[in-house]
Order: sequence, then structure tokens, then C-alpha cells
Amino acid sequence: MSEAALLSIVDLVKHFPLGDGLLAKPTGWVKAVDGVSFDVARGESFGLVGESGCGKTTLGRLILRLIAPTGGRIEFDGRNIFALSNTEMKSLRRRMQIIFQDPYSSLDPRMKVDAIITEPLRAIGHLTRRQQQKAAAELLEKVGLQTADIDKYPHEFSGGQRQRIGIARSLCVRPELIVADEPVSALDVSIQAQVINLLQDLKEEFNLCYVFISHDLSVVEHICDRIAVMYIGSIVELATTEKFSIASRHPYTRMLLQAVPLPDPHRKTAPFAMEGDVPSPIDPPAGCTFHPRCPYRFEPCTLEKPPLVEAAPGHRVACWLNSGQGLGIDE
Ligand code: SF4
Repeated sequence: MSEAALLSIVDLVKHFPLGDGLLAKPTGWVKAVDGVSFDVARGESFGLVGESGCGKTTLGRLILRLIAPTGGRIEFDGRNIFALSNTEMKSLRRRMQIIFQDPYSSLDPRMKVDAIITEPLRAIGHLTRRQQQKAAAELLEKVGLQTADIDKYPHEFSGGQRQRIGIARSLCVRPELIVADEPVSALDVSIQAQVINLLQDLKEEFNLCYVFISHDLSVVEHICDRIAVMYIGSIVELATTEKFSIASRHPYTRMLLQAVPLPDPHRKTAPFAMEGDVPSPIDPPAGCTFHPRCPYRFEPCTLEKPPLVEAAPGHRVACWLNSGQGLGIDE
């Protein structure tokens, strides 16, 4: 774990058993997360991107210790969160919060905004009711809503406004880390940019560290300092956002980039399009799991899984073609 890292993930594995019941022997395993390692620095926005079923949401739930891993560890500020007692974890939870994908189902329709936002504060229990209300009112203004909204119910708000309430709730206990799981994918496109800009502003103001999970590379590129691309439970490329747009090396990343609509007709893209479906994580392909969809596959690709290695300073790639010289396709 580097000195500046707030979050350090080491060889993390999460396999879910398949079978008929709790006592029955598993008939197979879903390899949702399969040996993932990376650090996230304080104040950094780290993006996790990939298609549906790649394991990114499972990874987010592991980071918050909502589920237990099959192997590996996660260190938050130097402490392995899976080795902490429930009491120790309760106090650590204040420092890590989540923003959910769906602003409709994530807010209790029977609770007023005041009660929703202060729920984490009540769990900690060290502020008076008056202090809680004051904190909620201030946070509403920070996220672009009115103080008077405090007495309303979720159904009185639009989707974008509800997501702002969810963001205010996550900020209530002044966390250092926020896991944002597809925070804008359920919103209209016109609202997405507003919420992304809000998250960007709040990051600066509250000195937050984000783990930003999304299937949409263009969203992640907008807000993140570094990006990791996941494919069937593993990271296949990790680099700074700048390197992603100009010097991505993994064929899968190239495909994701090419799928992003561009307003620039002169920007070059890789000469192939996304094809085929993501293979099942129950029985992933041997060797490089991307090889059935990869136009560059050659013999080693079907035999052995390529390790994630440093191709350039701060740029790691898992591909047998990676020689440190790029892929030889248009950059
Ligand atoms: Fe394609 Fe082979 Fe690289 Fe996998 S290792 S991405 S199959 S070239």
C-alpha cells in the first residue's frame, strides 16, 4: 500500500456459489471478482468501467464490506476492513459512504427529506436533533436544493433532485470515500451532466475520494483521475484518464472507446467495432478471457491469462500483445 493511498485492494476474489440451497454442494461458481489489485489515493477519483456483469458492482459492495470476499483483502487507511470487529467497522463506516444508482428506490417514500438525510447521523448519535436539522438544511443548499425542501417527501421531486438528496445523505457524516455506483445512469441525459458537475464540485469542497462505477466510459472520463477497465472479474487496463483517451493499449478498451459517441469527426478510432456478448463468469474462456471477441488474438491468448503489467509509468495492461510500444492500431 502506497503511503498516500486511502484505499488499497490486494488480490481480491469474490466467487458466488451456484446450487439449490444453503446446505447443498455448489454446482459451480460465478467468478464475479477474480484477483483484483489497485490503490486509490486520498482525494482521487478512481473510475471502474465495464459492461454489465463484469464484476464492478460486486467490487463496490466489497469495498463497503456489504459482502465478504472469497480471498484477498481491502485496506482502508491501512486497516484490513475484513479483519475489523462489527464495532470497529461501525465507526469506520462513517468514513465511507455510497451513492446508489436508482434515485427512486434508494429513498424511503415514507420519510421526509430531513429524516432521509440525517439517517446516517442518527446512527452515529452524537448530534442533537437541532444540529441534525441544521446539517441537513446546509447540505440541501450544497447540492442545489432549497432549505424549504427539508419537509417534503421523495415523490415531490424529479429524478435528478432525488439523486441530489441521495448525495446530501452520503455527505452528512463527512466521509472521506464515496462509492458512487452508476450514480447518473438512471437519469435523463440532460440531467446527467448537472449531477456529474455537482459531484465534481463537492469533491473539491469536501476533499472526497470517489470510486466511481459506471458502464459509460464517457461519464467516467469526465470525472475521474484514473480509470480501470474490468472484464469478467479482472482489470484489463488501468491508466490515467489522459492516457485512456490518447494511448489506450488493450483491445477491449479500444472497443469501449469506439462505442462512445464523439462530437469530433476528425478523432481517430480503432478500426473495429464492439461485437459479441460478454462470456459467462461461470465458465469464462481459458487464457485471455477476451480472446473470443478479440480481433488481435494469437496463439498464446487461448493458453494463458495475461498478467496486468506496467506498460508505461502509471499505465498497466493485461494483454499478450503489450510490448510497451502500443498495439500498432491507430492511436
Ligand atoms: Fe486480444 Fe490476446 Fe491481448 Fe487478449 S491477450 S486482448 S486475446 S491480443
